[in-house]
Amino acid sequence: MKPISRRARRIPHSATLRILELTRKLKEQGQDIISLSVGEPDFKTPQPIIDAAKEALDKGETHYAPSRGLTELREEIARKMREENKVPAEKENILVTIAKHGIFMVSEAILQHGDEVIVPDPGWVSYIPISIFSGAHYIPLPAYEHDGFEPSIEHLQEIVSQKTKLLVLNTPSNPTGAVYHKKTLKAIADLAEDYDFYVMSDEIYEKLIYGRKHISIASIGNMWERTITLNGFSKAYAMTGWRIGWITAPSNLIDVFDKIQQQTITCNPPFIQRAAIVALREGKPYTEKMRKEFNRRRMAAIDRIGEMMVLDAFKPQGAFYIFAKYQTDMNSFEVVEHLLREYGVAVTPGGSFGVHGEGYIRISYANSMEKILEGLDRIEKGLSALE
Ligand code: GLU
Repeated sequence: MKPISRRARRIPHSATLRILELTRKLKEQGQDIISLSVGEPDFKTPQPIIDAAKEALDKGETHYAPSRGLTELREEIARKMREENKVPAEKENILVTIAKHGIFMVSEAILQHGDEVIVPDPGWVSYIPISIFSGAHYIPLPAYEHDGFEPSIEHLQEIVSQKTKLLVLNTPSNPTGAVYHKKTLKAIADLAEDYDFYVMSDEIYEKLIYGRKHISIASIGNMWERTITLNGFSKAYAMTGWRIGWITAPSNLIDVFDKIQQQTITCNPPFIQRAAIVALREGKPYTEKMRKEFNRRRMAAIDRIGEMMVLDAFKPQGAFYIFAKYQTDMNSFEVVEHLLREYGVAVTPGGSFGVHGEGYIRISYANSMEKILEGLDRIEKGLSALE
């Protein structure tokens, strides 16, 4: 048989989804596994959102929707973007899609062979694989714990060049939970203008933030014209299974993304878009309740890790992950395998987020307090056994 494409061979399975599947399989086999791996709120989708989808289904909204999304939803999103994110968005600047597919479309629309894309390291597991499809060359931008996991601007100045076409930004960050300061965003914005590159700002965790303020880079200076902002309903409204998000960008770019959307997924299901409208209109109190509970768990988990000799944790200011450094010199994939198979606790290897994530594990606190504390006990035992 002739070989499959080189790019398909080059990309790995998603580390986060792989562990989720392995955890499911072990649970099905009757094993007692505590899952602190995948980033998925353990809360039920708020009832008014579910009711809106049911109502739309009953009304027969089961056919194609406009490829850019329902006008009512795009208007609602544009309003949210203006009011909360301080960007001058109108409905022409919004495309409803699946957030992860949005990242793929941005990459396909902007990057080509010979271009360079700068990605955060540690950074979410899918940024690099998605960029590989485009044929562009990716350059990791390291972020170190001693800098609060914000990228070093000096380092960025060294790696940026006329070939840089796109920079991927993710604040609050998956996997570190870092929330970038305005001065970091401002420095990135200045470089974007000097070197004329686009910024893709993944703001999926903007609502899950503890004691800090989220700033959209598109609201800084002239960044609006070169920023593509990604967001979705999964994390803020516990809607991971609904697969709906959106892109905010200048209308000339939205036109290009729309072509790709038409040629790939066509549109998002209309009944899900109806539910998304209700999420934006009525979801705030539910999100706030979840955020408070995540914060309570975050503090408890940080305190518990603080008692351990085998693990050191960076205190996250956003998202629902703790990026923790372990002591042994085993690589993070081996450590995770050991914890899962021998101690029944699933976490994500730091190495799957880039070379600068090696030596760490990502612990998701999107699980009940009881499970988190039991999971941390298991992690402590499992790591102590490796000492
Ligand atoms: N983004 C989440 C995570 O990092 C969900 C899984 C995924 O799409 O990667 O766990």
